[in-house]
Amino acid sequence: MVDSGLVCSCYSDEQSFSKSLKKCLRKSSCLEKTEKMAKTLDIAQLGDPILRSPTQPVTDLQSPRLQTLIEDLIATAALGNGVGIAAPQVSRGDRLFIIASRPTLRYPQAPTMAPTPMINPEILGASEALVQDWEGCLSVPGIRGLVLRHQWVEVEYCDRQGQRHQQKLTDFVARIFQHELDHLNGIVFLDRVECSHALMSETEYQNESLPGAKGARSVLWPST
Ligand SMILES: [Zn+2]
Repeated sequence: MVDSGLVCSCYSDEQSFSKSLKKCLRKSSCLEKTEKMAKTLDIAQLGDPILRSPTQPVTDLQSPRLQTLIEDLIATAALGNGVGIAAPQVSRGDRLFIIASRPTLRYPQAPTMAPTPMINPEILGASEALVQDWEGCLSVPGIRGLVLRHQWVEVEYCDRQGQRHQQKLTDFVARIFQHELDHLNGIVFLDRVECSHALMSETEYQNESLPGAKGARSVLWPST
């Protein structure tokens, strides 16, 4: 489903995911020092001006400050069952986000990949085709919105060691990338919802719209 080097092997359960996460984290030498210090951070909520403030490019890529922030972002996203999180969501102005797709209560169909920090990310190209799906956000709890995104994006970013990567992301992971990149530009997914009829409560979404849900509801939406 996801044509991307980001996708690691599948994990059958939370325990194996945690083991794999620790293994991935230990690949960084800086990480041995920061792993024990990882803590969850308060998440900025809609209305907080930080969510509307553009971020600044990261220049101290391998600094302890940035490595600690990356660890804290990963821990914070995991606690909130998030599949991604951007620095402004923890009140930081760095051009940095984490993509951490995995099946969670909020996104049971998500593909599994190791948490991947993306620093100074950019979109180099994108599909003409747009696809719609319901998005949520840790900074907008309890609400889902139907959002059109590019089906695939060619992206570039720096990893935590300062190496630049170019990759093609598709489908759900491409959607996460576009959602998180918006955060770095002061945009939240509600800005991309075309009308209030494309909003739904999280409870309604869980009950009615997930594939296989008892009352699975087809959502009619213009394909533009
Ligand atoms: Zn968000």
